[in-house]
Amino acid sequence: MSQRAIYGRSFDETDGQTLPAETTCPECDGALRTEGGETSCSVCGLIIDEYRIDHQGGVGGYVDDEETERTGPPLTFGRHDRGLSTTIGWNRDAKGNTLPAAKRRRLNRQRTQNRRAKWRSKAERNLGHACFEIARLVSALELPTVVRESASKTYRTAQQADLITGRSIESMAAGAVYAACRCGGFAVSASAVADVSVSSTDHVQHAYSVLNVELSLETPVIQPGSLIPKLATGCDCSPQVQHRALELATQAVDAGLANGRNPAGVAAGCLYTAVSEHDGVTTQAEIAAAAEVSVETVRSRYQELQDRV
Ligand SMILES: [Zn+2]
Repeated sequence: MSQRAIYGRSFDETDGQTLPAETTCPECDGALRTEGGETSCSVCGLIIDEYRIDHQGGVGGYVDDEETERTGPPLTFGRHDRGLSTTIGWNRDAKGNTLPAAKRRRLNRQRTQNRRAKWRSKAERNLGHACFEIARLVSALELPTVVRESASKTYRTAQQADLITGRSIESMAAGAVYAACRCGGFAVSASAVADVSVSSTDHVQHAYSVLNVELSLETPVIQPGSLIPKLATGCDCSPQVQHRALELATQAVDAGLANGRNPAGVAAGCLYTAVSEHDGVTTQAEIAAAAEVSVETVRSRYQELQDRV
């Protein structure tokens, strides 16, 4: 880490503050050093002064072993041009001065040209549309940016593999979001994605299976335990019931009860068992509705748990 001169401040950032007079530590008389915007004693580590802005140049570049300047945010898969678009502003220059009329007219023409040149092909325009749709779905589902990046990357790969042709952009975008949730371990069902999408649950499932089969996605198996917190919250169960249901889910997996079963059904069976153990009032039908399985499934998973665990 490079070192900066002690108390090196630029003129406009010292307002309202007086610079400390001493250059040695008030506690132990050790030498002071300023590093990363923080002035501390090199001997005892006492922090004398904190300073928000670090003026030293950062390590340039986001790509390893490559000399790149730091300009703007890192590249993202979430935008069709990976976030490298040009934006031409309006009527004022960088210093806030009003532009003369001739220059404004020129900028207007440039803006039009830029808008027309933004898409190099129909495929790129479609990709832009899909990226926008993915961002909208991820936002509506309140999922983190990592899902958006992953879904956009999957969609991009699918487009390169010619999987989008003949299918709707919206359903493939929804399928990519569902795939990103599955691969990232987020407990979001296909019907939850379909609720915020224009596509039906079947279309989302179908798009996901196309992506899964053709692109060989590394989808981990859903564990019943991962579905329980959301299910328990949806049924207003107490933390004790949820805790017991998680225990039962682990036991059910260990006993092989989850093999070949719908994880949502196993989770619902575990939750119902926990509810009945704690004299809860939640019915099988309520749990079945929250888990999107039939009441019969809940009942038979419940029976299996009673017999085997
Ligand atoms: Zn000191």
